Amino acid sequence: VKNKGKNNHCFYSDDLSKSAVERFTLEGQLRHALVRKQFEVYYQPQVSLITGEIIGAEALIRWNHPKLGLVSPATFIPMAEETGLIVQIGEWVLREAAHQIVRWHKAGHAIQWIAVNVSGVQIMRSNFADTVYGILMETDCNPHMLELEITESTVMQNTEYVIDTFNRIKQLGLKLAIDDFGTGYSSLSNLKRLPLDKIKIDQSFVRDLPDDLDDAAIANAIYAMAGSLGFSVIAEGVETQAQADFLSAMGCKEGQGYLYSKPVTATEFSKLLTK
Ligand code: C2E
Ligand code: CA
Ligand code: CA
Ligand code: CA
Repeated sequence: VKNKGKNNHCFYSDDLSKSAVERFTLEGQLRHALVRKQFEVYYQPQVSLITGEIIGAEALIRWNHPKLGLVSPATFIPMAEETGLIVQIGEWVLREAAHQIVRWHKAGHAIQWIAVNVSGVQIMRSNFADTVYGILMETDCNPHMLELEITESTVMQNTEYVIDTFNRIKQLGLKLAIDDFGTGYSSLSNLKRLPLDKIKIDQSFVRDLPDDLDDAAIANAIYAMAGSLGFSVIAEGVETQAQADFLSAMGCKEGQGYLYSKPVTATEFSKLLTK
């Protein structure tokens, strides 16, 4: 570690993954970030491709680090998963989202749900269904107003415990979506065993639409497969009107991406809802 000069720590902030020392301290800081109230939940609209209206939101966590500024979840979520901290952090995000959708409904907004990302570690390392139930009781949130996004790779672990947890969550009344669909290797038989509602086409297949013929074929195939299994479909990473038009012509009814809005604070999101 070349970390001897007085000001060298500045150098590392660009390149977090490279330094074991900084990684260690960042992990240490992550441990305290919850009590220090450094996390904030941002919300990104999920939009009807038919009417253009905001129908839901995805909750995306942000870490406002006192020295580094905003640290990307792509950096700290894997750390939180390795250390098990994701269990408390994920519970906090879900509670925040539940409070928020209740608040928006009380304010008269028609937004239907908030989707919350759930890590496989939360499912494997905690009594997740009990946690969800506790949060519903505590926040008085209608379970239909919450959706959980679980990545395809988690879904593929597909142990009895995961299936049992999904079934319990489903019985509570929440919706379940598979995130990043198409990047894992789920089989139809695996998908059929799970009580899923929605598939989220990964943004890597949306990026080069409508020109890339392979991606167009993949998007079509995912859409057709989802339909035959009775799942609805949302496309993520929609950045251009041409992508939205392609997806909508394909039959896809929901989209999310920078075309509509980047993820924003709850306050800014409220403004989008009153527009
Ligand atoms: P994800 O769940 O696949 O979320 C979508 C990511 O794509 C978000 O990045 C979002 O800001 C970004 N995005 C949205 N629209 C567009 C677009 O039009 N173009 C492009 N290029 N990107 C777009 P973000 O917020 O940095 O989150 C990264 C990942 O971190 C998430 O990927 C998710 O896996 C994880 N994450 C975020 N919040 C949470 C959380 O509360 N819990 C867990 N377990 N994971 C989270
Ligand atoms: Ca997601
Ligand atoms: Ca995703
Ligand atoms: Ca992703």
